[in-house]
Amino acid sequence: MRTKFLAGVVGAAMTLGGTALAQGAAAPAKVAATKAPAVAAKGKAEATWWGHAAFIIRSPGGAVIAIDPWLTNPKAPQGAAQPEALDAILLTHGHFDHVGEAKALAQKTGAKVFGSFELINLLGLPEAQAVGANAGGTFQVKDVTLHLVEAVHSSSYAADPKSAPQYAGAPLGYVLEMANGPTLYHAGDTGPFEGMSLIATQFKPTVALLPIGGHFTMGPAEAAQAVRLLKVKSVIPMHYGTFPLLQGTPEALTGELKKLRSTAKVVTPEPGAATAL
Ligand SMILES: [Zn+2]
Repeated sequence: MRTKFLAGVVGAAMTLGGTALAQGAAAPAKVAATKAPAVAAKGKAEATWWGHAAFIIRSPGGAVIAIDPWLTNPKAPQGAAQPEALDAILLTHGHFDHVGEAKALAQKTGAKVFGSFELINLLGLPEAQAVGANAGGTFQVKDVTLHLVEAVHSSSYAADPKSAPQYAGAPLGYVLEMANGPTLYHAGDTGPFEGMSLIATQFKPTVALLPIGGHFTMGPAEAAQAVRLLKVKSVIPMHYGTFPLLQGTPEALTGELKKLRSTAKVVTPEPGAATAL
């Protein structure tokens, strides 16, 4: 069952990859793309979407943080340089489409890797780079205060796709509070949950990165409810269109927000383009 699912996903990824890249080449970028996403303008807060749930965030103080770095996903920007320097890598959970190339990036950059205690243990990173933690934890990465928050999902990790996956602890979301900058919330894979209103009260995020694909996570209607609970001004949809199973679209999210009379803005960056936060 699992093997069959994975084979299906890989097959779909390869098919979609061709389509997505071909479309990406034909369509003009909505925001100016940079050739090296990790090297954005200094002094600004920026998010670069790498497709799926992968983002490279740059803080006003120059912290560069990768979240769920599956940088070889079917929607990843074509020909873009992978980051050479990272201060931290944040993992929301152990599924392959979120852990991605975290281990290789950690090795290349020396960045600390944050995740659930169980997942970090399974990754077998050098001790100095391994930060196994859990929801409720707070950490400092340069000018960014990181808060680990809950997510409603599952989590397992298989070091080798042929081996049985192991329990990888509870899934997580991350709030990135940037000094003299915005507060960003990456929900990871999740359904909507009431605790999002606590995230709103405690951290007052201004922008949320929310999954909208459905099937494994929230779809557009649930994501609109999440926007309402989070009280964010803008939302960047993610985790859609990567595989045929993930059918939610930003247009559907916009429609659902209208139904709720929400004024939140839906921002849809092209993969590889640095978006000011
Ligand atoms: Zn997942």
